[in-house]
Amino acid sequence: MSRVTVRVPAKVNLSLGVGRARADGYHSLATVYQAVDLHDEVRATDRDDDEVTVTVHAEIDLPEGTAVPVGDDNIAVRAAKLLREHLGRPDLGADLSIRKVIPVAGGMAGGSADAAAALVGCNELWGGGLSRLELEPLAAELGSDVPFLLHGGNAIGGGRGETISPILARGSYHWVFATAGEGLSTAAVYAEFDRLNPHGVLEPEVPDALLNALRAGDAHALGRSLSNDLTDAALSLRPELADTLKVGLEAGALGALISGSGPTTLFLAASEQHGLDLAMALASTGTAADVIQSRGPVTGARLI
Ligand code: ATP
Repeated sequence: MSRVTVRVPAKVNLSLGVGRARADGYHSLATVYQAVDLHDEVRATDRDDDEVTVTVHAEIDLPEGTAVPVGDDNIAVRAAKLLREHLGRPDLGADLSIRKVIPVAGGMAGGSADAAAALVGCNELWGGGLSRLELEPLAAELGSDVPFLLHGGNAIGGGRGETISPILARGSYHWVFATAGEGLSTAAVYAEFDRLNPHGVLEPEVPDALLNALRAGDAHALGRSLSNDLTDAALSLRPELADTLKVGLEAGALGALISGSGPTTLFLAASEQHGLDLAMALASTGTAADVIQSRGPVTGARLI
């Protein structure tokens, strides 16, 4: 019996520019991703038959009304099946086991992370021999955030987020994440975005100030240049997130932002100690379900 384990990070979007809906319903994105030190682990064990199974061990509380599917709907299972199809080996099977630490339905791409990990893990387990570059098109087919999670670090995401260009950046950043007790559906946030922005730009751009801040490794400048075009839509669906953002800013965060489509909020701290102070301020107000300290950037899906 062979077995491999892959560790995969969550992502944050330091900026998320969203174009108005195109005729095919998709939105062009111009985003800056950073992979952060909050990891799921996906273990893949080979099987004698062609079944692909998944079990999930959640180390976190799942938001009300959300569940991680344990069948073919699990995106890690879809990733494994897509890979074996690509390899021309429908006879291959695996048991996947996910240790879940990344908040679910929190705008941190937890499902996409597991998909990236399943691609890397099953490629190794089955002797697929595909390079990371060769896994990229499969990742893009699974979801917009999946290619970035193969790479990690800091990167610009274009297209629907799946076209990755690495950024030369300096510095390590201290983050505090505040999770919400109830998940927020990405589709619902985009629908609200469409309602609020019928005449927005078609092709958004990444702000220069943000790229300059990353190049300089300047946390204060980074804090000032964080942005997310989904903010109004997420706040419209979850007005209480505005209180969480306010608490973090009043406690001295260098910047505060809704993570992706939310409802997780993120706060940039000047140091680890400052992060601890922020975390305590956020936890004591009771506006967050959980408060997590983290660092970024970190590397993408890796065998351990
Ligand atoms: P994104 O930031 O990419 O929009 P998210 O972080 O908000 O995503 P996920 O944690 O990826 O959200 O979960 C979204 C939904 O995907 C979940 O509610 C769940 O039903 C489904 N799902 C499928 N596979 C997984 C998985 N392996 N882990 C978590 N959720 C999964």
